[in-house]
Amino acid sequence: MKKALVCGAGGFIGSHLVKRLKAEGFWVRGVDLKYPRFSPTQADDFIVGDLRDLAVCHEAVDTRFDEVYQLAADMGGAGYIFTGENDASVMHNSAQINLNILEACRRRNSFRIFYSSSACIYPEYRQLEAENAGLAESDAYPAAPDSEYGWEKLFSERLYAAYARNHGFEVRVARYHNIFGPEGAWNDGKEKAPAAICRKVAQAGNPGEIEIWGDGEQTRSFLYIDECLEGTIRFMRSDWAGPVNIGSEEMVSINRLAAIAADIAGKTITPRHIPGPLGVRGRNSNNKLIFEKLAWRPSQPLASGLAKTYAWIDLQVQKTQRPKEAPKPAIRQPEIEAAE
Ligand code: NAD
Repeated sequence: MKKALVCGAGGFIGSHLVKRLKAEGFWVRGVDLKYPRFSPTQADDFIVGDLRDLAVCHEAVDTRFDEVYQLAADMGGAGYIFTGENDASVMHNSAQINLNILEACRRRNSFRIFYSSSACIYPEYRQLEAENAGLAESDAYPAAPDSEYGWEKLFSERLYAAYARNHGFEVRVARYHNIFGPEGAWNDGKEKAPAAICRKVAQAGNPGEIEIWGDGEQTRSFLYIDECLEGTIRFMRSDWAGPVNIGSEEMVSINRLAAIAADIAGKTITPRHIPGPLGVRGRNSNNKLIFEKLAWRPSQPLASGLAKTYAWIDLQVQKTQRPKEAPKPAIRQPEIEAAE
C-alpha cells in the first residue's frame, strides 16, 4: 500500500486532501498542531505536533513516504496577512517548518514532495490595476511581493528547488490562488473573502446590508477545493516540477462576489464600503502553463463552488444563532409504551 504524509492535515486544504488520498487507497499520516476543526480526520495516523520542532518532523517522517504534501503554514486572510501585525510569526514559523521537513525527508529518502506556494509571491507592480490579464509563472521575477507572507513563500520555493538540485528531491511547487470551500475558516479572523462574504450574507437580513473592505472593486479569482485537489494530485504524479499556478481564471471584483453570494442566498443585499486591509488591486491566474504541461486546467464556474460553500456556512451561522434550548420538562411515558 502506498504511503502519504500530509503536513497541515488539520487545516482546510490538508483535511480535504487526506480524504482524497484515503479514497485513492493510500495509507495516510497527518500532522498538525491541531485536529481538523469541522469533521474527524480520516488519516490512518495523526500526529498532533509542532513542525517547527525538528524532532517532531523526524517523528512524522520515521519511514519512507511515497508522497509528502507540505501544506503547513502560518497563514490567514487579508485581516491576518496584510496588517503587518503577524509578519514576524508568519515568516519565522513557516520558514522553520519548511527547513525542518526537508531535512527530515532527506534522512528517510522521502524525495517526492509537494509544496503549496501562493499567488502572493507575484510582484505588486503587476497587480496595480483591477483589470488583470492573469499572472504567468514567469512574472514572479524581479520579485516584489506585497506581503512578508509572499516573501517567505518565495524563499521556500527556492529552498525546495535547491533540495531538488543538490539532494535529488522530486519537488512539486504549486502556487495556489484563493482556494475556498466547505470546512474552511469562516469566523475566526483567518477567513478569506469567499467565506467572509458568505458569512456576512448569511447573517444579514433580507433586504440587508454587508460590510466590504475598500471600494469592493479590487479583483481576485477563487478556486473551489475539489478542483484544487484534482490539480494538486495530477501535478504531484506528473514528471514536471513547476512552479505552476493552481487557480481559476474567472476573475471577479469583491462586489461581484458579494452579488453572487446574495443571489445564491436569495437576498437583496447592499454593500457598505468601509476601510480595511486590501492587498493588491487586481489578481488573476493564468493557466496556460498548467494546461500545456498537464493537459488539464480548472473549469468549474465560481457560482457552483460558492453555492456549496454558502450552504455550509449558512448552516454554521444557523447553529451559532440558534437560541440555547430551555431544559425540557420531563415527559411521562405513555402507558402503552411503558407496557411494552
Ligand atoms: P490552513 O491554515 O487551514 O492550514 C494550515 C495548517 O498548518 C493549519 O491547520 C495549521 O494548524 C498548520 N500549522 C501551522 N503551523 C504549524 C506548525 N508549526 N506545526 C504543525 N502544523 C502547523 O490553510 P490552508 O488554506 O489549508 O492552506 C494550506 C497551504 O496552502 C498553506 O501553506 C497556505 O499558505 C497555502 N495556500 C493556501 C491558499 C488558500 O487560498 N487557502 C492560497 C495560497 C496558498
